[in-house]
Parts: sequence; C-alpha cells; structure tokens
Amino acid sequence: MSRYRGSVCRLCRRENLKLYLKGDRCYSDKCAIDRRTYPPGQHGQRRGGKISDYGGQLREKQKVKRMYGLGEKQFRLFFHRADAGKGVTGEALLVMLERRLDNVVYRLGFANSRAQARQLVKHNHFLVNGKKVNIPSYQTRVGDVLEIHEKSKNVQAITDAVDAVVRRGMPQWLELDKDNLKGAVKAMPAREDITMPVQESQIVEFYSK
Ligand code: SF4
Repeated sequence: MSRYRGSVCRLCRRENLKLYLKGDRCYSDKCAIDRRTYPPGQHGQRRGGKISDYGGQLREKQKVKRMYGLGEKQFRLFFHRADAGKGVTGEALLVMLERRLDNVVYRLGFANSRAQARQLVKHNHFLVNGKKVNIPSYQTRVGDVLEIHEKSKNVQAITDAVDAVVRRGMPQWLELDKDNLKGAVKAMPAREDITMPVQESQIVEFYSK
C-alpha cells in the first residue's frame, strides 16, 4: 500500500477538520488547523466558491479514509465488505472501521494516534484473548480482551499514551483496566459512538457511481 509521507497536518487543513493524527500536538496550541484555517498549498488562501456534489462526496470519503489512516485500496475493500453485508452500508462501514484492532488500541489509550497504534500492533506488542495478533485491520468482536504483551508493558510510547487518554475520553463500548493495562470490547460500536462529523451517505454515493 502506498503510504502518504507528507505532513499529516496538511490533511486536517485540507478537510478543514481536526483529524487528530498527531497525538499530543493535536490538543496543544501548536495544532496547525488552529493556526492556519485555510487549505494548504500555494492557492490555499484563494480557494472558495461552491463545491460540486461530486466534490462534497469526495471530501467526505477522503476525510474518513484519512482519519483512519487507510490507503484507497484498503478503504474501498472495507466499503465493499460493508456493502455486501446486512444493514445500512455507510453505518456498517464506520462500525467496521471502529472495530479495527489499531483503532481499538488507539481508543483504549494504548497509543497517541492511530498511526502509532498501527505500528505498535505490527510490532507484536498486543495480545487478543491471550494470542499475539499483529494485524492492524483485525476485526475485534464483543468479548475480546486486549492485553499488552508482558515484555512490552514498559514501552514508553504505551505508558505515556495511557496517561494521556483521560483527555480524549473512552467510548462506552470499550472498557479499560488501566492498572493491568488491559482492555475489553463490551459491545459493538454504535453509530452515535462515532462523534466526528461524518456524512457516511456521501461516501456511499461516491462509490455508487
Ligand atoms: Fe490535525 Fe493534529 Fe495536526 Fe492539528 S496537530 S492539524 S489535529 S494532525
């Protein structure tokens, strides 16, 4: 998967929304979107005017894709899976994205950003139900218990992140045992648990053309 290697703050400024891609910095007064409220690029300050239907759908898709740090191919795959399943496609897509192991690691506070969570998962720092899982896209289920590998309990990035999670808040569908560095999936995430302003129907429109 080709990965975006530029400044992630540009992505927030492009979407005109805090996507929280940089951990602590996102909560500080150094956040780029708070400092420069216009889109990035040479003509960022000149842009304006009415956005087309297609443009609106594209922006919505890009916003969610960037928020979860996925490439186009992987995001499209998730969309097709959501579309093939039961239920409302847009909602099912968001729920599947929330259930990703890297997202759960981030939401539980074991990482400061989803990008960091993905890296920690890939480096074998987590166990799911007692077994090592190093696949960031792994779909967690109700009852799954997530633990930090014994040898990773002192990894600075993880301990720092756990201390900072209070600021972000914990979604109701997850449970954290901070003392034992353990988390559990109590329920499936519901649409209302995803508080970012997202119009998922626009993403469905985008891929339905
Ligand atoms: Fe986005 Fe965080 Fe950068 Fe702010 S600091 S622009 S929220 S990535």
